[in-house]
Amino acid sequence: MTAVALGLPLLRRPTPSGEGRPDVPELVDRFGRIARDLRISLTEKCSLRCTYCMPAEGLPSIPRSQVLSTEEVARLVGIAGTRLGVQEVRFTGGEPLVRPDLVDIVRLSAAAAPGVRLSLTTNGIGLDKKAAVLAAAGLSRVNVSLDTLDREHFRTLTRRDRLPAVLDGIAAAQAAGLAPLKVNAVLMRDTLDDAADLLGWALERGIRLRFIEQMPLDADAAWRRDSMVDAEELLAVLRTRFRLEPHGREDPSAPAEEWLVDGGPATVGIIASVSRSFCGDCDRTRITAEGSVRACLFGDDETDLRSLLRDGSDDEAIAERWRLAMWGKRAGHGIDDESFVRPTRTMGAIGG
Ligand code: SAM
Ligand code: SF4
Repeated sequence: MTAVALGLPLLRRPTPSGEGRPDVPELVDRFGRIARDLRISLTEKCSLRCTYCMPAEGLPSIPRSQVLSTEEVARLVGIAGTRLGVQEVRFTGGEPLVRPDLVDIVRLSAAAAPGVRLSLTTNGIGLDKKAAVLAAAGLSRVNVSLDTLDREHFRTLTRRDRLPAVLDGIAAAQAAGLAPLKVNAVLMRDTLDDAADLLGWALERGIRLRFIEQMPLDADAAWRRDSMVDAEELLAVLRTRFRLEPHGREDPSAPAEEWLVDGGPATVGIIASVSRSFCGDCDRTRITAEGSVRACLFGDDETDLRSLLRDGSDDEAIAERWRLAMWGKRAGHGIDDESFVRPTRTMGAIGG
């Protein structure tokens, strides 16, 4: 019962077979992709309740003993960086800033994986107090999620009246040199008309804004493909105020298509995760707060690493199980296929 309420998959596949896998250290899959970007969820808890993500009451707590400890997270980051070719690690959740040991996680991870870029995806609440110390601990940048500057719209969308706290967090991150600061906004019908204001605000502050199509990962299961706001609709709204020209992607595996604003040099990004899937270039691997590898946001297959972390297994054994998990990664999410089935976990329980 608890597993159902948490939105956790009830069935886990046995550890996937490595048949046909080349003998290389990196996280390769059957489709020729190499995962170099690791997302680690640190918690299912959150200070907001965004309607496209969490249920109003929040996700049920994961028992503390099942959540990776500070040292376990840092060990996985070390394995990823030194044995698996991971180049970037992003801490996410739930809300990573609700973890009291976040600064220690960053400090230990930086020591365990020198040269690996560490970043944070956060709603920004509490960042005003932590930005400088996180930067000193080894964090290089943050992505802050902010969908609207309209306080009432923010309150309705996140079910919390915390817009000023988010804005304070963004200002502190910029002051702490956590650059480039990116702001991610999920495209929702009720805030679509706020998109141009958000872009104007970001341009004034040198913030890189990216809009993201809403994916069917909301706990309330309210997402509908036919009513979802897509990239085309957003472009039409932004073009009422700005001149936009296509500018390609930062690099082939970057999810955002960039658009030059008013002749540049500033750009705005659009992550059309549903209408223009970029699964073919996906370079992500994910770890849940309980220490399982999730090869794809949308695949319920999870491979447990926590038991190896706790049974005395060495780093290479953990790396090898991680490699096998990624070898089994599926081709894509298939949201636009008739056969699409929503994953059991919701976004807040996976780590976006
Ligand atoms: N709490 C942090 C935050 O909001 O940035 C980190 C976790 S949150 C799950 C990570 C990202 O996923 C956020 O940018 C959020 O807007 C995005 N997200 C959540 N639910 C989504 C959905 N259904 N579709 C698209 N993006 C979503
Ligand atoms: Fe919390 Fe982030 Fe989900 Fe919003 S998107 S409810 S801030 S985890």
